[in-house]
Amino acid sequence: MEQQLPPISEKLAHLSSEQIEELCQKYNDGEKIKILIRDYNIDIHASGFYNLLPPILSEDELCPYCNVQMLQNRPRRTSSVNKAYCPICGHDNSDRCCCSSCELERQNQQRIIIEKSVEILNNHYNVDTNKQTVVVQDLPLYDKLYLSAFLRYANEDDSKTLDCRKLNQKLSPTKSFDHEIISSLLKKSYIRICGIDVPKSQSQNEEQFAESTELNKLCYQLNLQIDGQTDDEIYNQLFYPNLSNAEEVELRDLWKRIATEECVEYVKFNFKRLRLKWDILDIHKKHIDNILMNFSVGQFFLFFHNSLKGAVLELQVGKITRIQCIHYSIKGAVFSAERVNASRRTIKPFHRFDLKQSIISHLFYSVFLGIDKKGFYECPNTYRFMNTGISLKIVNEKGLLVFGSTKKYTKWLDEECIRLGNIKPSELLNNTEGLEEVFIMLLRLDTGLYC
Ligand SMILES: [Zn+2]
Ligand SMILES: [Zn+2]
Repeated sequence: MEQQLPPISEKLAHLSSEQIEELCQKYNDGEKIKILIRDYNIDIHASGFYNLLPPILSEDELCPYCNVQMLQNRPRRTSSVNKAYCPICGHDNSDRCCCSSCELERQNQQRIIIEKSVEILNNHYNVDTNKQTVVVQDLPLYDKLYLSAFLRYANEDDSKTLDCRKLNQKLSPTKSFDHEIISSLLKKSYIRICGIDVPKSQSQNEEQFAESTELNKLCYQLNLQIDGQTDDEIYNQLFYPNLSNAEEVELRDLWKRIATEECVEYVKFNFKRLRLKWDILDIHKKHIDNILMNFSVGQFFLFFHNSLKGAVLELQVGKITRIQCIHYSIKGAVFSAERVNASRRTIKPFHRFDLKQSIISHLFYSVFLGIDKKGFYECPNTYRFMNTGISLKIVNEKGLLVFGSTKKYTKWLDEECIRLGNIKPSELLNNTEGLEEVFIMLLRLDTGLYC
C-alpha cells in the first residue's frame, strides 16, 4: 500500500530531498554535526539536530491496528537500532508499547485473567453462584456471626460489591481464622467471589493458585435472596443479626473459639517481636484451650508474658535453643495456670496493649454476648450469664456428650458428688440455679480436670 512519510521539518525546507538524503548519509558516516549545520545552513542548535532528520520507512513492518507501514527513526550514532513505530497511532512492536490500542488490549487480557481467576476460586470453594434462598432468623449462630463480621469488614460500594482489597483492619485475630470464616461463607454459597487484583504469578497451576490466594483480599458479592426483600434489607438483617434464640451453649462455644484465636495472636505477636521464626503448633493450641477452661484471654496474656520472659532469659544465656524457648514459653504458661488454679488465687488479667481488637471479637463480645470488654477479661468457660435460660434438655445433651452413654450419665447423676457438696446431681435438676451448677460441673468434667 502507498505510504506517506510525515512532512519534513520546516528547518530543512530549503533543502531538496536529495540534499536531505545526502545530509543523513553524512551524519551516518560520522561527519561532525556542527559542520553539517554550517554546510547545509540549518538554523538549529547541535542538540536538536538529530530530531530534524526524517524517519525512514520500516521494511516489512505493518501496524497491526492501522495496517500502514511503520516508520523508524534513523540510527543514532550513539545507540543501537531504533524501534519501528506507527505514524498514525504511535504503536511500536514492543511489550511495553503504551498506544491506546495496546492499553485496551492489555485491559482485555487482564479482564480475561481476572474472570478466569474468579471462576477458578469459586469452583475451588464449590460456590453455587445461583443466589441462595435462606431464612435469616433460622441461620446457625456461627453463620450469623461470620456473615455480620464479614459485612462489617468489607467495604460496600454502590454496585453492592464487598471490596476487601487494601483494607487496613482485622477481620479476626489470625490469618487462618480469617480464612476459615470466609471459606465457610463461600462453601455455603452465602457469598461469591466477583473480583481480584490481577495475580502476579502466572506460573502456578489452578490448584496452587486457589490454595495460595488470600481470601481476605478479594471482592465479593452477597449471594442470598429472600422473598419480598430488597438487597439493602437483606444486608441490614445480616449486619445487625437477631439473636433472640441464641443458646448459651453455642455462645460459649463461639466465645472459646474466638478467645483461643486471640491467645494465638498474642503468642505469634510476641514470637515475631523476638524474631523467633516458628509457627504455633496444634499441640500449643490445645494447651491454650486448656488454660481457657479456667481463665480469661487477659489472664492467659499474663501467664504467657511471664513464662516467655523466663524462657528468653534462658535463651540469652545459651541454656536453651530458640525452638525450646517457644515450647517452654507455652508450657510455662500451662504450669502457671495450673498452680494458680490449684491455689484458688485470683490473678489480674493483662490488657490488650498494642494488639488492636479484631472486628469479629468486637462484634461477638459487644453484640452477641453483650458484655463488651468482659469478653477479654472473663473466662469463656465459667462466666455466669445473667439470663442463662439453661434447660434440662441442654444439660442432658451435655451429659451425654461428656459421658458417652446414657447409662454412665445416669449413674453419675445418682451418685453423691463431693464437688457439689455431697449432693446427687439429679437432685439439683429441678430449678435454674441447680441446672446451672450441674451444667458447669459437666463443663469442667469435660476438660478432664475433675475426673
Ligand atoms: Zn497504528
Ligand atoms: Zn501499541
